[in-house]
Amino acid sequence: MGLSLEGKSCLVTGGSRGIGRSIALRLAEFGADVAITYARSADAANEVVKEIEALGRKGKAFQADAVDYSQAEDVIKTITDEFGKIDVLVNNAGITKDNLILRMSEEQWDDVITTNLKSVFNYSKAVARPMMKNRGGSIINISSVVGISGNGGQTNYSASKAGIIGFTKSYAKELASRNIRANVIAPGYILTDMTDQLDEKVLDGIKAETPLGRAGEATEVADAVVFLASDMSAYITGETIRVDGGMAM
Ligand code: NDP
Repeated sequence: MGLSLEGKSCLVTGGSRGIGRSIALRLAEFGADVAITYARSADAANEVVKEIEALGRKGKAFQADAVDYSQAEDVIKTITDEFGKIDVLVNNAGITKDNLILRMSEEQWDDVITTNLKSVFNYSKAVARPMMKNRGGSIINISSVVGISGNGGQTNYSASKAGIIGFTKSYAKELASRNIRANVIAPGYILTDMTDQLDEKVLDGIKAETPLGRAGEATEVADAVVFLASDMSAYITGETIRVDGGMAM
């Protein structure tokens, strides 16, 4: 019991940068072997693997497009072959393609829904049998406060993130009898490449709407992931934890 992840084998999708990178390193700091996926950033992904190995854990990076189910199956199979099992899946890979609904293209809608939501289906399905064989597991899906409260200019993104919450509750109900837990983390405004694109005025507005009065750090999301990955959260499933400085309360 406790927050130790010693002996656990984990996968973080989109672990090359930002929140995913912080999650991967935090899991390794707490004792886990950690694999990551990425889309394009091979150098950054290899750097994360080196940092995981420097912590004395096994690390591995896969270039795998999160929208592709067969690649998800291959990734999970390689991890179970090389790490022996899989205990924790963090569905973190995600993108934004913001636009007002009148200007939003079908492509912007499809790209965001498939990357953010179908990816969660892909990896959660691919991991179900190995976790059942392993008599348990923990899945942590990274949503957003925007999936709870909505946000103008982000109909595609907020639909994908709200979809993750519904998916997780259904999945948690289906697999609870197999000791597989599934939970959601809904971050608020976190400093990463994704939020780098926002202009100063928008950022000031976001900070003003955040009771704690500041942006969050990727490590603060990672800390909540460690809790949900660990046996300290053994009786928690189907839950959504906001890590948002109070923004959506
Ligand atoms: P970043 O843009 O910094 O990183 C995104 C990560 O996802 C990268 O590792 C990227 O890989 C990977 N990725 C993107 N598309 C794919 C794909 N098709 N297949 C595989 N990997 C992919 O984003 P953040 O760290 O900011 O966001 C991480 C998650 O947190 C997302 O789901 C996001 O929606 C969510 N979130 C972020 C918030 C924020 O304020 N930053 C707030 C709320 C939620 P590569 O490096 O190869 O491009």
